[in-house]
Amino acid sequence: MTYTIEKVATLIGARRYGKHKADIGFLLTDSRSLCFPEETLFFALKTKRNDGHNYIADLYRRGVRNFVVTDVPNNYDSAYSGANFLKVIDTLEALQRLAERHRDAFDIPIVGITGSNGKTMVKEWLYQLMSPDMYVTRSPRSYNSQVGVPLSVWLMDKQTRLGIFEAGISEKGEMSALRDIIQPTIAVLTNLGSAHQENFESAEEKCREKAILFHDAKTIVYHADDKIVAGVVASLDYRGERLYWSTSDRQAPMYIKAVEKKETAATITYIYKGGIENWYSIPFIDDASVTNSIVCATIALHLGLDADKLDERMLQLEPVAMRLEVKEGRHGCTLINDSYNSDFNSLDIALDFMNRRPDHQGRRRTLILSDIFQSGVEPARLYRDVGELAAKRGVEKLIGIGPSISSYADEIHTQEKYCFSTVADFIHSPVFKGLRNEVILLKGARRFGFDRITELLVQKVHETVLEVNLNAVVDNLNYYRSFLKPETKLVCMIKADAYGAGSVEIAKSLQDHQVDYLAVAVADEGAMLRGNGITSSIMIMNPELSAFKTMFDNDLEPEVYSFRLLDALVKAAEKEGITNFPVHIKLDTGMHRLGFDPEKDLDKLIEKLQHQNAVIPRSVFSHFVGADSDDFDSFSALQFERFDRASKRLQQAFEHKILRHMDNSAGIEHFPGWQMDMCRLGLGLYGVNSRNNEIINNVSTLKSTILQLRRVPADETVGYSRKGKLMRDSVIAAIPIGYADGLNRHLGNRRGYCLVNGCKAEYVGNICMDVALVDVTGIDCKEGDTVEIFGDHLPVTVLSKILDTIPYEVLTSVSSRVKRIYFQD
Ligand SMILES: *Cc1c(COP(=O)(O)O)cnc(C)c1O
Repeated sequence: MTYTIEKVATLIGARRYGKHKADIGFLLTDSRSLCFPEETLFFALKTKRNDGHNYIADLYRRGVRNFVVTDVPNNYDSAYSGANFLKVIDTLEALQRLAERHRDAFDIPIVGITGSNGKTMVKEWLYQLMSPDMYVTRSPRSYNSQVGVPLSVWLMDKQTRLGIFEAGISEKGEMSALRDIIQPTIAVLTNLGSAHQENFESAEEKCREKAILFHDAKTIVYHADDKIVAGVVASLDYRGERLYWSTSDRQAPMYIKAVEKKETAATITYIYKGGIENWYSIPFIDDASVTNSIVCATIALHLGLDADKLDERMLQLEPVAMRLEVKEGRHGCTLINDSYNSDFNSLDIALDFMNRRPDHQGRRRTLILSDIFQSGVEPARLYRDVGELAAKRGVEKLIGIGPSISSYADEIHTQEKYCFSTVADFIHSPVFKGLRNEVILLKGARRFGFDRITELLVQKVHETVLEVNLNAVVDNLNYYRSFLKPETKLVCMIKADAYGAGSVEIAKSLQDHQVDYLAVAVADEGAMLRGNGITSSIMIMNPELSAFKTMFDNDLEPEVYSFRLLDALVKAAEKEGITNFPVHIKLDTGMHRLGFDPEKDLDKLIEKLQHQNAVIPRSVFSHFVGADSDDFDSFSALQFERFDRASKRLQQAFEHKILRHMDNSAGIEHFPGWQMDMCRLGLGLYGVNSRNNEIINNVSTLKSTILQLRRVPADETVGYSRKGKLMRDSVIAAIPIGYADGLNRHLGNRRGYCLVNGCKAEYVGNICMDVALVDVTGIDCKEGDTVEIFGDHLPVTVLSKILDTIPYEVLTSVSSRVKRIYFQD
């Protein structure tokens, strides 16, 4: 479905500059995600930190000709020939208006879903329930924000018979815009959890904001047993149908009579609108799944699905995999695994993710794709579009798996392509054996069993893994950015292999989020990042004299803390004929570790810097000794004063701007007034607030698994040196992690614990090199179950406290033999 540019201008009330014909099919707000330039309309959004107008020239060069802007470039008809600029007062509002007008064109049921948890699961399951009968358009992944909702609604096209959209809010005043865009005929509140509570005065206030989605809906769906929800709904002046569900109110339109949980399935008995008693079963038993299935059943029945089909399809529900995982594979391959429902829009998002992660030269991009189920679209066209999309997103090799994609292979035009009917055929083919030095995106509907491919491709060295949540890294970045002025720059510290999380993948995410600098300890780390396609500015905190050449060759900017280092650096640069190589001057204001003396050394430093042009001071900085504790506030003030005076003197001696910086993570929060030109974010990025030892958004989870369980009678001992004497008959689990993996020996002998199926299990006896023993007496567990060493449920700060150390040490101790797995929702 396309709109002419004239039509768009009218719909959003824009003034048009440029009179060129254009048909718009795609909306773009992030220039990095460009795919089909000719049909794209770019909205130059302005945020606190960024301005889409800065990307117009680049997008024009890449073929985009249509822009929605607040400021029209003044040379638009000469510099941007062939382009149309639509001038509006607010570009975000224009995007939302366009989506709203697009929505107006559909007279079909539209489900709008809000709630604190379960939105995505309800959306995906409802899609699984309804899509066999009708063409459904839904929000891709969790596109539910002020920008995500309009982009989702825009995806509806002529075939769409049902729309399902998520509406997510984090503060007051956001819902009414989302409601105007979605205009749900059926509005759903899944539940009211505690997420984003901080921006609301009370749970009731949050509920009121969410309930704004209900206004004007024909039908509203909610859980009447929740008192707050029921109270808020009762107070609304709402005239439509209240399709609530309840486990206690027999008069409820959806009365849940019983929930019966068995080993692997749950059966829900219900009476819908006073009809006969009915039931359905789902292949899950956890409470969240049961609740979400009830919400889905209510809506599906309302949409006309009959009870038998409901039962049949409920039993086939697939888990909703939100995670996109990045793993190292065999033969130099990197695997990106996305088992999220396979459809065109989510494929696009996964391809965009792959395309945006830089890579060293030479590695091909390969897509392994299963059949796509999208009723209502002619398969020939679907696979032609898929092929085109893949090629535009940089895929060189496409491997299709499934009967449908195989029979439409002729429609796919990528450089290389292979099709197989089944995973087994593929695995036994030379194509599989020939995978070498490739970045491979696996995107397959669950029923195709792509797990088998992943298992064979991933080197399984060790059962112990560190899972790293890339979304959490970005959320933490934004948390700290919220303390900063929009113009303040940020250095992200990824030294010590990104505090243990793995510097390459972390750097890729940070680069994608446009941080100003990355910082590592030594030149080799920086060179390794360059080798992996990182182009951001990189600072080297501990430059060794031997590594100057590496730094020059790779544009790695050293910290300079002594005259000896400065002299050697200048000499080496002069020898190479290098001029104006950027360096970062470190002043010692109280740490007394490294740095120039701000009093005694400064004149000489200025003089030396002025009398050469091999290097140029790009920034000047110092480091607080105790920004994480109020106890040192007066000393911090003294440090700042010393720095302020000296750094200003340095600046006065030069004409160019020298960036001044002092705050680390704790400083950003505690001394935002001293942010100056730049801050250096370390621990906070990895989710630990060093001021209160609380977790902001957890990034790393260290997991292992139970290798063996054994009953050991009282009075026996466990492990080396007979340290672990048992006082009772016990069950002991052996887990494959030891001090060589970074599990500190001091956690042994019941000083520390891990979590086995959510229960605390103490380490008994001495921790060995590769294995630890834990007491799981009374804990329901079996061999193969997962053990959490630290992470989402057991904060790393608990371990650091027991060990009488700081979280930094625990995080950076995880040894390199522990595999890192990266994921993103
Ligand atoms: C490591 C480091 C930081 C980051 O400190 P955090 O406490 O982790 O935020 C900042 N500046 C310098 C010089 C560092 O070495």
